[in-house]
Amino acid sequence: MSLEEKIFKAGIVGAGGAGFPAHLKAKSRVEFVLANGAECEPLIHKDYELMVNFPKEIMEGFNLLIESTSAKKGYFGIKEKNEKAISAISKHLNGKSELTKLGDFYPSGDEFELVYEATGKLIPPAGIPLDIGCVVNNVETLYNIARAEQEIPVTKKFICVAGAVKKPSSFFVPVGTSFKSVIEFAGGAKIKEFGVFVGGVMMGKLTFDLEEVITKTTAGLIVLPKDHYLIKRKNQPEQNWHRIGKSACDQCSYCTEFCPRYLLGYQVEPHKVMRSLGFTKTGASVWNQMAELCCSCGLCTLYACPEDLYPKEACDKAKTEMKEAGIKFIQQKPVKAHPIKEGRRVPLKQLIMKLKLQEYDVESPFNPKEIIVKSVQIPLLQHIGNPSVPVVKRDEVVEEGSVIAEVVEGNLGAKVHASIKGKVTGITEKYIMIES
Ligand code: SF4
Ligand code: SF4
Repeated sequence: MSLEEKIFKAGIVGAGGAGFPAHLKAKSRVEFVLANGAECEPLIHKDYELMVNFPKEIMEGFNLLIESTSAKKGYFGIKEKNEKAISAISKHLNGKSELTKLGDFYPSGDEFELVYEATGKLIPPAGIPLDIGCVVNNVETLYNIARAEQEIPVTKKFICVAGAVKKPSSFFVPVGTSFKSVIEFAGGAKIKEFGVFVGGVMMGKLTFDLEEVITKTTAGLIVLPKDHYLIKRKNQPEQNWHRIGKSACDQCSYCTEFCPRYLLGYQVEPHKVMRSLGFTKTGASVWNQMAELCCSCGLCTLYACPEDLYPKEACDKAKTEMKEAGIKFIQQKPVKAHPIKEGRRVPLKQLIMKLKLQEYDVESPFNPKEIIVKSVQIPLLQHIGNPSVPVVKRDEVVEEGSVIAEVVEGNLGAKVHASIKGKVTGITEKYIMIES
């Protein structure tokens, strides 16, 4: 069986958040394979813990991918400050790969940034790394690839639980475990009233629903008091973001001047997108186009804007409106990094201060204890593409690792496996429930 087939069989998707089915990367032919261990979401340290505790597996996956794609070279992106991880990974480097040491900036884990840092190449506007002969994989995806080689499917997710919890930590958890169980495993919340940022405070979503579940792409949960600055900012009705922006934006353009995509040479100009909030009858479609290449990193809203406005959210809105209107912005200008790019980098420590997270900025050590859960609710769509289709029936008994949902032929997707042994107690359009 080829590596591509083994990855497909194991149901691997990009574990860094995007959820792109990983078998498609293994079948490509590229010049460079990049491992992404940059991890720049404040307070989330699960990739760091994985690199320190499982370097052999990560490097096995990396080398398998270098081989299957016939790549000339591998670059392993890792932050210079993470000395323990550097030392662990370095022991397994071979002649075909080298480390790309990164500064402690946000968002140095962005694919466009990492590819530029490692290879000096810029991905074309609206393109993907493959367009310039690169594939990029998060370190946990590489770990999963090494396990797929041993025919072990993805049934667990490695996550970090941090913020206002008693024991900030990183651990493996069955896919489909509720946030409630996961927070309890991290010692429980320190406060009664809290919200949860899923995947991080910068790019993640805010929820108060503890019955939501961990998927193959959940990097971690950040628990914060309900009255924390970030929850108050995020938990506003959407119309407020845009109404305030429309009246208060003074076009200072700080949002654009700090935008990492703009500084790389892409035509992303959030201050111009803010104009679209006022030009709703005519002109919005013109200003909206300056949002097309935005990666939703959140830096403009949560760091750059001196007035606490919502330019990132204006960009999100603009992208939706353009999609609905069938408008596509094509950058004509050649992509060239801004000469001031290096001077405008945002140190993570500074970002953490701005986000008022200093008291939660602690380690989240790996807890190897196995988590036993009585029930899971496994989503059928945990990846880019179409939902997988159940192949089990209610009351059927499944083992951990049994295939419970398949990809329809011709669709983009990934297989779904049972994450615990038990009985199928429910099947909906979105989930399969299993109880042990
Ligand atoms: S969210 Fe803001 S800073 Fe980030 S890429 Fe988009 S426009 Fe730029
Ligand atoms: S930084 Fe804030 S005030 Fe300045 S242009 Fe951007 S959204 Fe407007």
